Amino acid sequence: MPELPEVETVVRDLRPLIVGRCIVSVRVGSKKLRKPWEQEWADCVVGTTPLAIRRRGKWILVDLDSGAILLVHLGMTGQFTAVPAGEPAPDHLHFTFALNDGSELRYRDTRRFGSVQWIASDALVQDAFGERLGPEPFDIPAKPFAEALRSSRRNLKALLLDQSLLAGVGNIYADESLFRSGLHPQTLGSSLKPKDCDRLRLAIEEVIAKAIDGRGSTIRDYIGGSGLRGGYQDEFTVYGRTGEACVNCGTAIEMIRVAGRASHFCPKCQKRKN
Ligand SMILES: [Zn+2]
Repeated sequence: MPELPEVETVVRDLRPLIVGRCIVSVRVGSKKLRKPWEQEWADCVVGTTPLAIRRRGKWILVDLDSGAILLVHLGMTGQFTAVPAGEPAPDHLHFTFALNDGSELRYRDTRRFGSVQWIASDALVQDAFGERLGPEPFDIPAKPFAEALRSSRRNLKALLLDQSLLAGVGNIYADESLFRSGLHPQTLGSSLKPKDCDRLRLAIEEVIAKAIDGRGSTIRDYIGGSGLRGGYQDEFTVYGRTGEACVNCGTAIEMIRVAGRASHFCPKCQKRKN
């Protein structure tokens, strides 16, 4: 499932390929995605030009010159790419935005948990995000973050997956950040000391930054906006490495379910404290 580094890579790849190109037509597939596409939105999109493309959490925002936003979520298996129009259309293609330079912005999604929506203004998008999206990992305010963790009886894995506390982190980067900070996924927020919170905050920043440098992680379907796979899956320390040796101490990595998700950790480097 694409998380912040994957979505950021898609945005960075697409920026030079779509900004300033007018959308000349839209083709919409018949299958429904997680959120509906209203038929009249095609008329709102055709003739507009993307002025910018940016990311907030795991959401992609394409700013159109009309002031409206194309709001895209990759769900589990979404692929948002720009390709020459002559490239054969793959299966599970749901949206094709033809651009005036002869290329196509395409949204493909095998499992259809993603969405493409037209929203009339950025203000409406921000209202919809509201308090459901917390700060980005690169601007985590140290004190409020520590206070939010230390006042919670939830475990760290659940806290890191909570998009209202922190936007963009999912299962992979939660596990990697917890390993990097030496914290067990089942440790409760309330048992952390301030210095643990700082260590975790810095670990999240470092892990996310490195993953962006690696163009995200391709486990199954993820590709960047230009169609290239990610490379960070080769750098994982714990995620998907159950039974393999810890890179620090050689102990076998374990996997347990925490907050309903498979959670990978080193039982020696990440002791549980409660
Ligand atoms: Zn270890």
